[in-house]
Amino acid sequence: MNRRFALALCVLLLTGACGYGDAPVTSSESQVGAEQHPQLLAQFGGSYAGDETQYLKTLGARVAKAAGLADQCTFTLVNSDVVNAFAVPGCYIYVTRGLMGIVNSEAELASVLAHEVGHIAANHSERQQRRSVVRGLGVAAISAVTGSERLSRIAGATAALFTLRYSRKHEYEADDLGVRYLRQAGYSPFAAVGMLTALGRHQQFLAATREREDAAAMPEWALTHPLTEHRVARSLAAAKASGVAPDALTENREAYLQEVDGLLYGDDPAQGFVNGTQFAHPVMRIGFQGPSGFKLSNTPQAIRIDGPDGLQGVFSGGRMPPEGLRAYAEATLAGLLQGAQVELGTASLTRVNELPTIIIPGTVATEQGPVAFSLAAYEGDGGDAFHFFMVSKPGAAQASAIGALYESFRLLSDAEAASLRPRRIKTVRVASGETLRSAASRMVADQPLQHFLMLNGRSEREPLRPGELVKVVVTAPS
Ligand SMILES: [Zn+2]
Repeated sequence: MNRRFALALCVLLLTGACGYGDAPVTSSESQVGAEQHPQLLAQFGGSYAGDETQYLKTLGARVAKAAGLADQCTFTLVNSDVVNAFAVPGCYIYVTRGLMGIVNSEAELASVLAHEVGHIAANHSERQQRRSVVRGLGVAAISAVTGSERLSRIAGATAALFTLRYSRKHEYEADDLGVRYLRQAGYSPFAAVGMLTALGRHQQFLAATREREDAAAMPEWALTHPLTEHRVARSLAAAKASGVAPDALTENREAYLQEVDGLLYGDDPAQGFVNGTQFAHPVMRIGFQGPSGFKLSNTPQAIRIDGPDGLQGVFSGGRMPPEGLRAYAEATLAGLLQGAQVELGTASLTRVNELPTIIIPGTVATEQGPVAFSLAAYEGDGGDAFHFFMVSKPGAAQASAIGALYESFRLLSDAEAASLRPRRIKTVRVASGETLRSAASRMVADQPLQHFLMLNGRSEREPLRPGELVKVVVTAPS
């Protein structure tokens, strides 16, 4: 969750929007892209402020030129740890730092950019989709919170966001164009095969290390770009058909691995840390604990909360208005419910861990019948305000779990805040005698060996070679 809040929960990443542009890039498309750019960036958590940003821009310019779109595309490295890449009208192409983390060569990253540029060059967008990328966000936010079609309509637009996925045919076309651009940019076309394989490993890693539902809900590049064995086989065939020998063109592996040395990995302290059912934000100095059975997911705008039996909600915050906590709570509710048919219960004023708190219950009419909700808002330090908004089936069954969640909100001590440190990728050279297991033991991560293999795009059958570079994840020095 970013310091800059929005009331609505953005699910752009969760649903994997993949907006498409015109080809060639027209001036009106460029204008739409330029208008949407700051809004999209805010939804994603902003651009990443590291050296890798300029590296991505330079590489992107090289790929765009190879595709005949020199100086027409804008490449942005997004400060998000999900693995994703997408293109929107006007050839605005976004890559997350999460994706850069699992890539193992410059050519592999170039293959992602070439694929996205391929969608633009092949004009894969539908006219009605071109203007709707940002507009769709608000709609998705409401329906994600309430699961209600009716509320989607109240929000005033069709859920265009959900139709922005490419067809399989378009994915294949973008793959084919991508391989061609990759070669034209001077990279081995076989890198596209390596990249798809890396994405497949990442997907398997998530499936193996998280609960099933969690993996399915993950905002993954692979969701918008269905990763079939067939797709890998196709890209291999295309690489072979290019007539370029597997080792003839560069992959720039070492240069890439040195480039990502120091790249932020996992949660950004500015967006807070999720650890199981616990959330802690060292910058805002707040934390809370979900009851067992709850799941938390960090998005740039909010923490999404999922509980048993369809319980859903968000945690977010903002600035306290001069009128105080009740005004904050009411404005937040109005923003979330957007004029839906609502029946509010009696608000209660209380204190939770010494913080002034207001809790407002209510019900909202939906096509599936009434849905119960409640909002708990807190007065933090220094003019900050925070809130939970939880939606559940009517009845008291979930009230105690929601109550426990609300009671857990608290300010962090200085020592707790100081103990929450970010992790970074560190590129290390393999010493002689080093094994996969000993290298993996350097990782600050759960399931270090699986994590190490995923991060470095290899299997247990590929032992380390002395002198090669590999990535590990370490805690950043404080
Ligand atoms: Zn695609």
